[in-house]
Amino acid sequence: MTLTSQFIKRGLRPSLRAFTSVSHLEATEGRQNGMWFALSDTQRELQDLARKFSREEIMPKAAEYDRTMEYPWDIVKKAWEIGLLNPHIPQHCGGLGLTCFDDCLITEEIAYGCSALATAFEASSLGQMPLIIAGSKEQQKKFLGRLVEQPLVAAYGVTEPGAGSDVSGVRTRAEKKGDEYIINGQKMWITNAGKATWYFVLARTNPDPKCPASKAFTGFVVDRDTPGLTPGRKEINMGQRCSDTRGITFEDVRVPKENVLLGEGAGFKIAMGVFDKTRPPVAAGACGLAQRALDEATKYALERKTFGVPIANHQAVSFMLADMAIGIETSRLAWMRAAWEIDQGRRNTYHASVAKAHASDVANRCASDAVQIFGGAGFNSEYPVEKLMRDAKIYQIYEGTNQIQRLVISRELIEKAKQKA
Ligand SMILES: Cc1cc2nc3c(=O)[nH]c(=O)nc-3n(C[C@H](O)[C@H](O)[C@H](O)COP(=O)(O)OP(=O)(O)OC[C@H]3O[C@@H](n4cnc5c(N)ncnc54)[C@H](O)[C@@H]3O)c2cc1C
Repeated sequence: MTLTSQFIKRGLRPSLRAFTSVSHLEATEGRQNGMWFALSDTQRELQDLARKFSREEIMPKAAEYDRTMEYPWDIVKKAWEIGLLNPHIPQHCGGLGLTCFDDCLITEEIAYGCSALATAFEASSLGQMPLIIAGSKEQQKKFLGRLVEQPLVAAYGVTEPGAGSDVSGVRTRAEKKGDEYIINGQKMWITNAGKATWYFVLARTNPDPKCPASKAFTGFVVDRDTPGLTPGRKEINMGQRCSDTRGITFEDVRVPKENVLLGEGAGFKIAMGVFDKTRPPVAAGACGLAQRALDEATKYALERKTFGVPIANHQAVSFMLADMAIGIETSRLAWMRAAWEIDQGRRNTYHASVAKAHASDVANRCASDAVQIFGGAGFNSEYPVEKLMRDAKIYQIYEGTNQIQRLVISRELIEKAKQKA
């Protein structure tokens, strides 16, 4: 019996732990041989598991969830049962401690089925990441352990009505009073805000406007049921409509000092530091959506006939498919490079931004071209591709807009050039 089938049969925790160590071993063997494009056997099993789940559990329900905009709890719970949720949670908390690369493999498959689901899963990972990179063992055990024990999700609360790209504009305040901090303010556009059991929250602790961002903010873990914390109404978005996006209001929310990550003033670096680990999966999700667009468009182009031949025989159409393929292959390589770099313990900021910006631009082009290939049917909600076009847009906006990614990339490359000069 394979590891994966043991997994499905027994509920995954013990067998996936074995899976993780084998995966690392095989990856290391590959590295010793130099350039290595093949997945290990165990990575292929993980990919197959996610692919099967996506095709069987997500794809048949995606259109209905898009229509009703209901949060897909049943799918989230099933994903948790077979181990596709929370891939990063460390083993000492009962999690699988998978690599960024392995998480990306899962995310690409989930997004192929429905990227709103991939966003719901990934937003929980984004909420967990500050704890993973900066939490104490006790904090990790308490808050990450909860997500291993029950099918619950977390959220990342940084953006505000007046602060998105410019995170240093965050105005939510946290004031220390005795052993507690009192938080007041407002967050906006927080994924999973109405569903999370706890939030990572960035708040300003130094009121001096001259204090640099790197010292002015503190990161907290805040329990959902803390009095004074109120999630707002569900926002009605263009795409990924079953994903839960809301504002959150904080009115005299009392948080024990034990919930501070790393120490007062460390919040900005933590909040920004997570993106090196979370942008590669965003890129992988965009890649999954683009692959779905290409597969749907290719199938349709072989079925639909005009002027007596399948439209795939018209070069104008087949070249659109070719351009989609070029974009997808290069986005996949880009997320693989970004994930691989961070898994080697190296700084991957440049590669993570390249992957995120490229894959999300490709996803938007592929979804739009798929609509074009479907003709009138592409514009209609009975066919799958208009949803892909609506869903794709957010990939260019969240986790840093693509303008911000270009800012990061240009800064990194200019800095490198200066060092060489
Ligand atoms: C569906 C959804 C889910 C989200 N989930 C989360 C979440 O879970 N947690 C969270 O904290 N946030 C979340 N966000 C917020 C998201 O990260 C921000 O919307 C995003 O960072 C952009 O911020 P903004 O909306 O304030 O746009 P702004 O920062 O106001 O930007 C507006 C425009 O100006 C451009 N721009 C801004 N500054 C520059 C610059 N210096 N150079 C060039 N161009 C610039 C931007 O690229 C953009 O095109 C989510 C947003 C959405 C819509």
